[in-house]
Amino acid sequence: MKRTAKLLSLLLCLCCLLSSAVFADAADGRIRNVIFMIGDGMGYNHLKLAEEQGYEIFMDDAPDLQGWSRTRSANKNVTDSAAGATALACGVRTNNRMLAVFPDEAQRETVQPRSLTENAVLHGMKTGIVTTDLTTGATPSGFSVHTLDRGDTESIVAQQLKSNIDLIWGSDESLAPQETVEDAGFRYVATQKALAALTPGTRSYGQFTHSLWKLSLSENTPSLAEMTAKAVSLLTTNNKKGFFLMVEGAHIDKNADDSKDGLKDYPEKVENTSVAVKTFDNAVRAAVDFAEKDGHTLVLITADHETGDLRFEEENGRMTFHSASHTAANVPVFVYGASDLFEDGAEMDNRDIPNLVAKTLGWTERFPVEDPVGTIAAPPAEPETPVKPETSGSFVEKLRDFFLRLWQWIIDFFSR
Ligand SMILES: [Zn+2]
Repeated sequence: MKRTAKLLSLLLCLCCLLSSAVFADAADGRIRNVIFMIGDGMGYNHLKLAEEQGYEIFMDDAPDLQGWSRTRSANKNVTDSAAGATALACGVRTNNRMLAVFPDEAQRETVQPRSLTENAVLHGMKTGIVTTDLTTGATPSGFSVHTLDRGDTESIVAQQLKSNIDLIWGSDESLAPQETVEDAGFRYVATQKALAALTPGTRSYGQFTHSLWKLSLSENTPSLAEMTAKAVSLLTTNNKKGFFLMVEGAHIDKNADDSKDGLKDYPEKVENTSVAVKTFDNAVRAAVDFAEKDGHTLVLITADHETGDLRFEEENGRMTFHSASHTAANVPVFVYGASDLFEDGAEMDNRDIPNLVAKTLGWTERFPVEDPVGTIAAPPAEPETPVKPETSGSFVEKLRDFFLRLWQWIIDFFSR
């Protein structure tokens, strides 16, 4: 009896040690990965609109934080997606149509603002860009290139293919020919099957069909949620330095921007905008599911601007569009995976948002960061520094493995 009691207390101690070792790694609070999600044109009322249409919306269910972002550009009260992306990616207020360049002519002759994606590359992190839009759309371009005009497709493709980004996926099979993509060292993917076959370590440029934003897709078209899950799985495998992934649901804006016969509000627009919100929300769900399992991932969800001046109308008892273009209304900021980035409910400038990411990842850089014009961020040479003693994370992993082995030995011992 005495021996059994001793063994039981030994077992209890080991259980405590084992669980603390297992959970210490997840609870060390260190964020290594960021999934930065942009619902293009998504105001808070767009979520309510989708709910009115019968879609269950996850993203504002239980975020760790919710705040508000003020949007405008350097030359207009109402920003376009290019200046909006520049603020979110680089912490710079630039002119409409400009992508990741300074608005001041003299300044931009010598320097360009560094994007979150580029800073992540410089820190040795894996990076990715996923959108329902063209890969050369304003938002993905703001996170991957520097150019004066968002319409400069040729330069955007060329810069993306010269970049050190690991995956760039969007729509339109015709933007960059397969040969050009492969010559640049990227795997060309245009089907669900090709996407599923991608393995970690292979860089890829994806150009799928234009219907990426819809809820029902052809068999060979991946959904935004599937693309997000696949991107995360590719970027996280065999990667201890973390990743930065930008995911855009571009078609909230594209549908809310619409007008028909002079009307700003009509059933088809309401339904299509709601579908685009739901598609994006499904991707948010996939990202948060990963983050919760991983324990080291921040998911930040926001928008570049509001589109459609969507407000509740007493008269018809529902959310109603009052515009067919962008507005200056504040947009929501949801955070999953961190509760100390800002005060819950805070209102912030959209240029502050990249610094939330910098703070979370423990970067010392603060945006805007100036680089010489024409710079392409290159990952640090390997090994980055002489091999350091193991980090605390690796130590904890070793400790956990030791206790897991010990635990197995005890189970074996008692089952003999
Ligand atoms: Zn936009």
